[in-house]
Amino acid sequence: MKRLIRKFSNVLTMSKELHEECGVIGVYCNDEKKNASHLVYYGLYALQHRGQESAGIAANSGGSIEIKKDLGLAGEVFRGYDFSKLSGNIAIGHVRYSTAGDGKQRSAQPLAAFCRLGEIALAHNGNLVNAETLREMLTDEGAIFHTTTDSESILNLICQHGSGGIEAGLKNAMSLIKGAYVLVITIGGKLIGVRDPYGLHPLCIGKLSNDSGYVLASETCALEALDAEFLRDVKPGEIVIIDKNGLNSIEPSHWCKKKLCVFEMVYFARPDSIVDGVSVYEFRRKCGMKLASQRKINADVVMAVPDSGIPAAIGYAEASGIPYGEGLIKNKYMGRTFILPEQAMRDDAVRIKLATIKHNIEGRRLIIVDDSIVRGTTLRRIVGHLRDAGAKEIHVCSASPEVKYSCYFGIDTPHREKLIAVQKSPDEICEFLGADSLTYLSEESLKEVCCQDVYCKACFDGNYPMEVPADAMA
Ligand code: AMP
Repeated sequence: MKRLIRKFSNVLTMSKELHEECGVIGVYCNDEKKNASHLVYYGLYALQHRGQESAGIAANSGGSIEIKKDLGLAGEVFRGYDFSKLSGNIAIGHVRYSTAGDGKQRSAQPLAAFCRLGEIALAHNGNLVNAETLREMLTDEGAIFHTTTDSESILNLICQHGSGGIEAGLKNAMSLIKGAYVLVITIGGKLIGVRDPYGLHPLCIGKLSNDSGYVLASETCALEALDAEFLRDVKPGEIVIIDKNGLNSIEPSHWCKKKLCVFEMVYFARPDSIVDGVSVYEFRRKCGMKLASQRKINADVVMAVPDSGIPAAIGYAEASGIPYGEGLIKNKYMGRTFILPEQAMRDDAVRIKLATIKHNIEGRRLIIVDDSIVRGTTLRRIVGHLRDAGAKEIHVCSASPEVKYSCYFGIDTPHREKLIAVQKSPDEICEFLGADSLTYLSEESLKEVCCQDVYCKACFDGNYPMEVPADAMA
């Protein structure tokens, strides 16, 4: 019987979501009569760039939890929704995008459960590297699962180890889970935020206007949307608990070393966010400036691949003295190209997504700046469009170094062998793209932009912040 359960558990874990890119938010209103779910809904809009597959809100009214979640964008899931059904002064929300998972409604978050601590709801951003082991362990102990997500193992562990209360449950769970996790949880009269000991993904704390409560959010852009004041970032390994006694912190009892995912800065976070004290926009602009100083290119105009290449292109133009111009217009009504699961669909999507301004391109020598090159598909298409529009020369610049290693901590990168920088040399990539030249931001330049050694740059240098088990890499 045990063997059978283990076999079944393996089937479940094999189909787990390898990559979870998500946004989380939690709101605590001091006034118990207030409805926090409205605010969470607005916050989800501001975090929509962090995940477009599903959206959900769990509202806590006096310890009783109601959830509404589904596949789709926040606006689609909650279109015409009667928010009085999600009453309560505490609410948490989640937007999710996963690639390798089942993409089913049941995997949408927040997740909720009844346990000895009461009703609990949890929203998770990140990816555990020991998910398979944990799931096997829990299954052996008789746990059952409704989803294939590693987030459900976290929820199980918190509840299972919570005989001494929620704080003990959290601490025990944190000692067992390995990988990247930002958690926003609600239980009883509490809103709780947790960041893993490396602080791999961001979580910040804000104060609602007129001291009316608190917000926890993946990015500061969600605080802006709620007109909340930024208080501080949650520290690596820290647990923050917000309840009628205000905001309390449980500092990590063990060694923590900040290793914020550099891809948050390069691509993932919104440029108007400040992550761990650093402006995302400024970070990208500086990458562009460094790129320009690496090599002199004679060109007429610097153009960006919108949107994430824009700040770097502006920085490039500033540092090189070559004017910045627009050549590519993004169709605002399409989701990210990565939403489409098939490579062929992705190719088509790039064509629909970006249109060229022929007038600005024809007969000109262009420098095209993008944030990163992962598979190379997007830029190859773009270079083709620009040639069709009459560009005289196309010099491609990547505002980050060569992506040579897969991420196991929550950023969607394909398996190593699919990364173009693993398959080909820079010269071969340049040829593949059909460009006249290709320049990557050097690792040295990125180091200078980062200033401090507080970033995980494993996608570029392979130095993972912790050991990644072979099963997590498979
Ligand atoms: P490609 O080289 O065709 O794989 O596409 C790379 C482009 O996709 C980059 O310029 C980014 O703008 C975007 N991108 C990079 N990483 C991700 C990711 N994890 N999820 C979605 N889009 C991404």
